Amino acid sequence: MLWLFSPPRASVYLRRMDYLWTPWRYAYLVDADQAAKLGHKGVPPALAAWPGDCHCVFCNLIAATRFAVEHGMPAIDADRAANIVFRSQHSFICLNAFPYSSGHVMIVPYAHQDSLAYLESAAALEMMTLAQRTDAVLRQVYSPQGINLGMNLGQAAGAGIAEHLHMHVLPRWLGDSNFMTVISETRVLPETLEITWQRLHQEFNRFPVKPLRENE
Ligand SMILES: [Zn+2]
Repeated sequence: MLWLFSPPRASVYLRRMDYLWTPWRYAYLVDADQAAKLGHKGVPPALAAWPGDCHCVFCNLIAATRFAVEHGMPAIDADRAANIVFRSQHSFICLNAFPYSSGHVMIVPYAHQDSLAYLESAAALEMMTLAQRTDAVLRQVYSPQGINLGMNLGQAAGAGIAEHLHMHVLPRWLGDSNFMTVISETRVLPETLEITWQRLHQEFNRFPVKPLRENE
């Protein structure tokens, strides 16, 4: 916990690992609150015409985008509203609404499954193919010095959405463990989710899924 500037009136009170500049985050929280009131966990207002509720953020996203497209919304607009940057046969890739760094994405199977062991083999194998693709895309778009890639299975392991497994992939830089992070557990994010979506959607969809390299 830390007070910045001169407390109390002009100060900003920061919780552990909070965000300093996130203009999109307020909008997301408002959207999430509205969606929660409507019973659509994770569904943005642009897709809120969908009348159902799967009680799962990822399943709701997919169902709401499908409903929107079936009722005339262009597929790219539905995916933009849902922060989905790429769709494959068994999984889709979407932005993390609370990114650790710009370019933080999640690879999510369409199947509502909390266990990697019970995920259909074809879907599990495709997740690794998509992880390779994500590695290539993030390196192309962000030129990071490293990439974090991993899954948190179960609430005790840190999963925010434990009921539907997903793989996090995010670019890293030596400087991102910077002064602000060290002293105040604060991340400073340099671009909005809208910009991130535009950059990653374009790059993810630039090439066919396979091969990433012709000689492999
Ligand atoms: Zn689900």
